[in-house]
Amino acid sequence: MLNRKKMVAIGMIFMAITSFAKAKYVFYFIGDGMGAGQRQITEEYQRTVLKNGDKLLVNSLPVAGITTTYSADTLITDSAASGTALATGYKTNNGYVAKDANGNNLTTILELARSKGMATGIVTTTRLTHATPAVFVSHNINRDNENEIAEDYVKSGVDYFAGGGYRHFTGKDSDSKSKRKDSRDLVKEFENKGYMTFIGEDSAQGFEKWKPAAGQKVFAAFQSSHMPYSIDEKSKNLPSLKMMTEKGIELLSQDKDGFFMMIEGGRIDHASHAQDVQGTIYDTLALDEAVKKAYDFYEKYPEDTLIVVAADHETGGMGLGFGNNYFMNLDQLKNVKVSIEDTLQNAYTGDREAYFKYLAVNMGLSDLTQEEKNRIIKGMDLEDKKETKDSSQLYGGYSPTAIAVAHIVSERAGMQWTTFAHTGTQVPLSAIGKDAERFGGFKDNTDIAKAIAESMGMSLD
Ligand SMILES: [Zn+2]
Repeated sequence: MLNRKKMVAIGMIFMAITSFAKAKYVFYFIGDGMGAGQRQITEEYQRTVLKNGDKLLVNSLPVAGITTTYSADTLITDSAASGTALATGYKTNNGYVAKDANGNNLTTILELARSKGMATGIVTTTRLTHATPAVFVSHNINRDNENEIAEDYVKSGVDYFAGGGYRHFTGKDSDSKSKRKDSRDLVKEFENKGYMTFIGEDSAQGFEKWKPAAGQKVFAAFQSSHMPYSIDEKSKNLPSLKMMTEKGIELLSQDKDGFFMMIEGGRIDHASHAQDVQGTIYDTLALDEAVKKAYDFYEKYPEDTLIVVAADHETGGMGLGFGNNYFMNLDQLKNVKVSIEDTLQNAYTGDREAYFKYLAVNMGLSDLTQEEKNRIIKGMDLEDKKETKDSSQLYGGYSPTAIAVAHIVSERAGMQWTTFAHTGTQVPLSAIGKDAERFGGFKDNTDIAKAIAESMGMSLD
């Protein structure tokens, strides 16, 4: 016969075993737009051009899976619908933020982690209110309602925010870059709730020097909109994804209940939209560097740490191979020094000679063929005549000169793109650590959040 005392003791042992068996430190990396092509070309560039190791860390983790990406209403998802699947375990329509297709709120794994007392963090290279971070913290029928999404953040209780996009938080009276329509100053509201805040480029140094202490809460947004592309980053001196991840680990790991942190490489997607092969490679490398920080942490706490590296969809239809040949030429890319979207796109001002000089210095194009020059001149003609709007099918809404250059660079490297939007293909996933084997194999994108919840000892049902 078991007496009450014995039963309590057995129960306590059972609870100790089951709680021991949960992932205490959870890293959820999302490469936005990071399909198989993006991962492969980045690894090839690292191996053959940078000569910096054979493999990306994300391609070396012991558990690998493949994930579907489609949303409730289309095979070609957007980041809100696929992010909702990755954050809540449910499909929804494109554009919806952690709401089901009927508009009901869905519980996110970050909310579950918080309800369990875990510390939580959101890190991204995009605006913090962009779709992928938003689906973990906010609920909205439209991803473009970024001011409303920002208001949800103030109420969220999340311990650590780091990324870009202060324009949806600063008051319009105090900041000319503010996009708020009301008179609220959400940065002040964060401060009133006890958050330390780091706002704007000038706060980068303070952030670098900051030594995270237990119990601190932080809201850091270094740019009014997105953080710079990694390829443009050196000139800006802002915290990298790696540094934002590292500070997050230092802060959140001081919570005795463990932590859940979502870290997004958000501009892999933007680069691939703009058909910017070198921008894509550099932002994928930056994500890999951030994963290394989590991996270092995993090595200290292998029994308690889970790292999942997922993607929400592929962007651009990045095809490794072009024309009729079996060799790529990634060496061609090593003299590409600026991003297509943020930098090259602003470089053509009507002075054709100056632009061709710019291409020689910044894009490695000192030996353009006449055929290549003609393609760029066609773009210049359209821009000079301001006929760029009609050409959105051909140039995706970007500057025609910049896209002409992007295509020349891509083809010289031996690859091309199929779309300025996303594609409906499956994407790779990698994992290591506590319960990592749950993530192997072919999965629907809704399975990932459910498996992470279970690893944390909870359920999204
Ligand atoms: Zn996208």
